[in-house]
Amino acid sequence: MDLAPTPEQEAFRAECRAWLVEHLPWEYGRGHPPRYDDLAEEVAALRAWQADLAGGRWVGVTWPEAYGGRGAGPIEHFIVQEELARARAPELVGRIGINLVGPTLLAHGTDEQKARWLPRILRADELWCQLFSEPDAGSDLANVQTRATPVDGGWRLNGQKVWTSYAQFADWGVCLARTDPEAPKHRGISYVVVDMHAEGVDVRPLTQITEDREFNEVFFTDAFVPRDHLIGAEHDGWGVSGSTLAHERGVNPRQLVIHIQLLDELLRLAADEGLYDDHRLQQRLAQAYVEVRLFQLHNLRSLSRLAHGREVGPEGSALKLYWSEMSKRLHETAMAVLGPASPLWKGALDNPGDGRWQRSWLYYLASSIFAGTNEIQRNIVGERVLGLPREPR
Ligand SMILES: Cc1cc2nc3c(=O)[nH]c(=O)nc-3n(C[C@H](O)[C@H](O)[C@H](O)COP(=O)(O)OP(=O)(O)OC[C@H]3O[C@@H](n4cnc5c(N)ncnc54)[C@H](O)[C@@H]3O)c2cc1C
Repeated sequence: MDLAPTPEQEAFRAECRAWLVEHLPWEYGRGHPPRYDDLAEEVAALRAWQADLAGGRWVGVTWPEAYGGRGAGPIEHFIVQEELARARAPELVGRIGINLVGPTLLAHGTDEQKARWLPRILRADELWCQLFSEPDAGSDLANVQTRATPVDGGWRLNGQKVWTSYAQFADWGVCLARTDPEAPKHRGISYVVVDMHAEGVDVRPLTQITEDREFNEVFFTDAFVPRDHLIGAEHDGWGVSGSTLAHERGVNPRQLVIHIQLLDELLRLAADEGLYDDHRLQQRLAQAYVEVRLFQLHNLRSLSRLAHGREVGPEGSALKLYWSEMSKRLHETAMAVLGPASPLWKGALDNPGDGRWQRSWLYYLASSIFAGTNEIQRNIVGERVLGLPREPR
């Protein structure tokens, strides 16, 4: 693993930083993304930002040029993520499309499907959601019960999904549905694209512990899915979903970006509160710093594998385990820094950050659940990395 950047990589980084200094909607290195009370308003503002970023060709840099990318390698992708973190740029609102759907379409989609959907993903012209989980299919995802019944020209979809992030804003969803109920459970599933505006698709937002309504229940009643919305082969949806899940758990520059920013803010908060000299907190702040740095190094190791043309593989689960546990510790430290202000919420007096930290603490409690629970990641690490005996099934 050689971490020294080449002159081309240095030039690429400089170009990206210069673009951000010029285009960031607030002062580079100082300002913050504005805060919105209304999720729909936030989504609209973030769509505009993503379109601008894509206009500079800084979204999906590893995608082929034919679909709006730069055909760049994983290291360039990583450089862009680091520069976005440095600029304190907000998360991409089209992240499900960019991080999960795009790579899956590139691996399994037809040329028509790629040409139709990929460029509109980059600019957030269309948003996507992931219709995988169901009330009885989370960790045991192959248990999906949503049925796709063949009809003239496609399928009729019936069933229920749950925890579907951003479904209320999505134009399209990637969905796992059972097309052969007689086949063994991993073999009778197909991977289809659902038009979220179609008749028979009913999206009902759920209120989370943070008071936000980011995720939803989605009900299908005879919703039509045309034949050309099938990704990969019929009944082979389980194989196709592997691409989506690998990208969800593998190298995770997205979480690295977020946690580098959180660490920066945490250290600033501690300094502002005059707590650097508090011996009870010094250790924990140093711990947060060391852990984020270790996370960065873990990412670089995975990146090095990718740059050498190797897959991240099941070690991606170790990375997911690491960052999610790290995140909870970092947020606990933030609560300790806030001290008596930690139980306060937005709008309260004497609450540094006006509830941002409390919201983030609550949100990241879910980090050990989303993208596959930590128990499941431990099983994967045990069985497929360490070679321990398989869990009884
Ligand atoms: C914030 C958030 C956003 C999400 N967004 C989406 C989305 O956009 N699209 C989507 O499809 N899904 C989404 N999910 C769903 C997520 O993928 C599931 O919650 C997750 O896979 C766990 O499934 P479950 O909730 O059904 O829990 P279950 O699978 O019912 O698990 C319950 C508990 O049992 C444990 N457990 C289960 N099986 C085993 C085992 N074999 N060994 C040891 N322990 C086990 C689990 O670890 C967990 O603690 C989201 C979840 C969250 C929290």
